[in-house]
Amino acid sequence: MQYAQNILETIGKTPLVKLNKLTAELPCLVLAKYETFNPGNSVKDRMALQMVEDAEAAGILKPGGTIIEGTSGNTGMGLALVAIVKGYKMVCVISDKQSKEKIDILKAVGSEVIVCPTDVEPEDPRSYYSTSKRLAEETPNSWYVNQYDNPSNSKAHFESTGPEIWEQTEGNITHFVVGVGTGGTISGVGKYLKMQNPNIKVWGIDTYGSVFKKYHETGIFDKNEIYPYITEGIGEDILPKNVNFDVIDGFTKVTDKDAAVYTQRLAKEEGFFLGNSAGAAIKGLLQLKDHFKKDDVVVVLFHDHGSRYVGKMYNDEWMREKGFLD
Ligand code: PMP
Repeated sequence: MQYAQNILETIGKTPLVKLNKLTAELPCLVLAKYETFNPGNSVKDRMALQMVEDAEAAGILKPGGTIIEGTSGNTGMGLALVAIVKGYKMVCVISDKQSKEKIDILKAVGSEVIVCPTDVEPEDPRSYYSTSKRLAEETPNSWYVNQYDNPSNSKAHFESTGPEIWEQTEGNITHFVVGVGTGGTISGVGKYLKMQNPNIKVWGIDTYGSVFKKYHETGIFDKNEIYPYITEGIGEDILPKNVNFDVIDGFTKVTDKDAAVYTQRLAKEEGFFLGNSAGAAIKGLLQLKDHFKKDDVVVVLFHDHGSRYVGKMYNDEWMREKGFLD
């Protein structure tokens, strides 16, 4: 008989799927690393498991403990699955711009959810960064995960996502394109791929309202780059330790409207029912078209599933309200 011992054993080994229509104008092969096949429907299951197992090994997460994390939803889902199987309590601190579906899903897998305002400075005591830290200090036998600065985040991608992409492309990959939030995915995969072949180009997808692109190009942390935006999952108003700018060749920014429109197009034209950052990633990839030539093999990573966005990017009323539908 072939079966997994528990749900955590099904994490990883996701398929690589060719894009056919949206990328028809490009001269190269474009392949999607399709991370919604993970049990929590996102790439974040990989790093959630790695962060917990590394914390257990280091003795900072103890039996019966409480895991606390500030999460836009996907990391919380991954951590919640790990907590269930391993017997921990899970508390997710989330910002109020996240979709209601994400909050309901976290509750469905037994997590306590605390909602904080988005439009406050990270240092503000009401922010979800500050609230998570405070809760961790106040809760006995708890562990604050901190996916932004926790090195096990990018390590998970260095040890699993990167090698899978290298093996699935039989070493033919020439470009890797991916949205950047904590930086774990781009840094772990990018480092692994460049160790196999330093000629591979790694591109980050950023959003308007985020600091990454300007910081990468100038070394300046420019607060004027920071303003509220709608795109979910990518961009930051801080520089997480997990972003390794040395393995990133460049960033391109995608507008909220384009990210939303291309999220819909992926579903309608490719049958890829994915989250909002996938729309940003594919639009960003198309913006980079002058960098690609015949015989290139471009891999784009799609982080999460469309079900979390049915009330937003897949809802035409919401799209019209935001001015995203012509
Ligand atoms: N897309 C989505 C939907 C996400 O939840 C995240 C994580 N915030 C990302 C992209 C960015 O991934 P990473 O944190 O590894 O940079």
